[in-house]
Amino acid sequence: MRIVAGIDLGGTAINYTLVNGKEQFLIEGLCEHPALAKQGPEICLRQIEDGLKIAVQEAGVAVGDVVAAGLDTPGPANAEGVLSARGSTNFVHPDWAGFDIRAGLEKKLGIPVTYLNDGNAGALWGHFTLFGARSKETTLTIVIGTGLGGGVIIADNVLKGRVGFGGELGHVLLPYQSIAGIEGLKPGCNCGRIGCLESVCSLGAIERSFLPFFLPRYAGHPLAAMGLHDAAKLVRGMAEKGDPMCKEIFRIQAHAIGLFLDEMVNTFDPDAFLIGGGALETGEEFQRWFIREVRAGMPPQREEQADIPIYVMPNGDTAGARGVAIEALKQARRSGLM
Ligand SMILES: [Zn+2]
Repeated sequence: MRIVAGIDLGGTAINYTLVNGKEQFLIEGLCEHPALAKQGPEICLRQIEDGLKIAVQEAGVAVGDVVAAGLDTPGPANAEGVLSARGSTNFVHPDWAGFDIRAGLEKKLGIPVTYLNDGNAGALWGHFTLFGARSKETTLTIVIGTGLGGGVIIADNVLKGRVGFGGELGHVLLPYQSIAGIEGLKPGCNCGRIGCLESVCSLGAIERSFLPFFLPRYAGHPLAAMGLHDAAKLVRGMAEKGDPMCKEIFRIQAHAIGLFLDEMVNTFDPDAFLIGGGALETGEEFQRWFIREVRAGMPPQREEQADIPIYVMPNGDTAGARGVAIEALKQARRSGLM
């Protein structure tokens, strides 16, 4: 038996999956192990190896059956898996700066390791769920979390770009001034831009821009009594229950996505869009309302493109591991390992 592992290294947990040559996943749900990324590369890589042994055991296969692995992490890293020299939120230990995590894991496991950033891995999983691993289609995926990640997949290929920042969809600038209801708001982003997609569609945007903007307009709102950081996390749940201010914040985020998708329709003429992440971890009714609002926020499309489908991404928690497992499987096929 030959199988490929998918390893999604997050800030606090490592998530594993295993896939066989028939593109069947041997692990149903989440298979997690603590990440220990804060303790630096040496301990973290050993931890990844230990967790993989447990995952393989739980799936009833042998470590020797794993012929290749895919690894995805949060950025910033280049296309080959070398972490930024300036460090990042999830890799704060000084030894991570400029560390080649892909090569490090390859050495540790003794099998070829393929790297994707987590946004691109999620996007590849979304693409796979719609079109499989040998497709001609183009998809764009956006994942709304603390920030906004995603990716562009063209005929199975992840658009990585020249230095690995392909598909950094969150920092594409939008004509946000055309969104009704936020007149006068100047939404800033960690990237330094004003009005990029992440600045008007992310948990960070709710905390930084939307709550300070809207709370004074909704006198006596219960969230006004809390700190912005904690209040921001409650907005989705309250929106789903129909709270007018919170629903308005989600409507505005949906319209921002609508503007963004319009730009992407004109850039890629894609076959489908996928939207995932914490923002849509809700009931189906709210998801359907949100997608309708995304469409309402899109400027009129050409007749041929008006019916482009917009899907909610399935299996959010396992998306990264599964996406990068598919990428590693493709690599393993090319090199004759599968
Ligand atoms: Zn930005």
